[in-house]
Amino acid sequence: MLKVGINGYGTIGKRVADAVAAQPDMTVVGVAKTQPNYEAHTAVQRGYPMYAAIPERAPLFAEAGIEIAGAVDELVAEADVVVDATPSGIGAENRELYEAHDTPALFQGGESADVVDVSFNARANFDAAGDADHVRVVSCNTTGLSRVIAPLQEEYGVEKVRATLVRRGGDPGQNTRGPINDILPNPISVPSHHGPDVQTIFADLDIDTMGLKVPATLMHVHALNVTLDERVTAAHVQALLEEENRLYVIPAGMGIDGVGKLKNFALDAGRPRGDLWENCIWGESIAVRGRDLYLFQAIHQESDVVPENVDAIRAVTGLEPQDASMRLTDDRLGVGISGDPAGFSDQRVSHADD
Ligand code: NAD
Repeated sequence: MLKVGINGYGTIGKRVADAVAAQPDMTVVGVAKTQPNYEAHTAVQRGYPMYAAIPERAPLFAEAGIEIAGAVDELVAEADVVVDATPSGIGAENRELYEAHDTPALFQGGESADVVDVSFNARANFDAAGDADHVRVVSCNTTGLSRVIAPLQEEYGVEKVRATLVRRGGDPGQNTRGPINDILPNPISVPSHHGPDVQTIFADLDIDTMGLKVPATLMHVHALNVTLDERVTAAHVQALLEEENRLYVIPAGMGIDGVGKLKNFALDAGRPRGDLWENCIWGESIAVRGRDLYLFQAIHQESDVVPENVDAIRAVTGLEPQDASMRLTDDRLGVGISGDPAGFSDQRVSHADD
């Protein structure tokens, strides 16, 4: 059983912890938090040993009735791999700690690419993480773009990608973010930084991106235009994308006309936290003009990187090769929605030994 420590137990960290706990070949040896808030109490309920990310704050946990297993460096020493899910920039500061214990570490998309040896997406470059000690699971948007680009590139070849990213202003709990009543070109400069981030996965890809931020918390939406190397039909592209387990092509007739209904769909189906680990591509939006493909996809920013973190753990430790890892991750989490309206996979997320 591979021992995984999670440093930073917020939006991403708590989901990764549950996803790791659901796998048969790895276990959560502990989570590190800075404060004994509601998420800390949930971690205790779920049975994750709690470590103090800032040792001087350990007494605050005791006052809140939370037993501390140790300080974060003890967690790093105990773990075979650490998943750093701290806020952007903190991961880079933590790298020294992981190096001191010779513990391989995964970082998240908020860190810059030069903090790590390899930027990672399970579908596109799983094997690149094999010899790495420091791996960055790319951001929610870059993950969403990479999952679509990889099969298109393999099947048809890609000449150029143009993407407009309509981004949620903040996550549901981020009540200090915005805009509240505005539509922001963000960044105003074109192209946005998202294209270069995708190039950390596809080094030679020609891609330009533009970004906006809108008053929403649920999901991002991408308007994608891909110039392919060959002429194809929309039906052929749709069939290709439907073969990918981490892409959900929303069938016509589902009545899902926006991300609000997508989230309702996930909640109604009993998805934990209403998570949508898959890219959600509107089937009716898939259109082809000459060699130009167009589509709309929605990306659940809080959860699409979660299966990728599980696969990255297997990639850096050599536990399983790409296909076996992705299948196991998806099976244990319940990732995958077929075209059948009742097509959610079994909802599995629970401790592997339950
Ligand atoms: P978050 O703020 O929800 O969670 C971060 C957690 O780390 C919080 O619980 C915070 O208290 C804790 N923390 C702060 N300083 C710490 C320290 N020194 N040691 C340990 N823990 C510390 O943030 P998040 O949204 O989970 O983002 C984490 C990373 O994931 C960032 O790099 C972010 O860019 C990336 N990411 C976020 C999203 C998203 O939509 N939320 C999507 C993909 C990637």
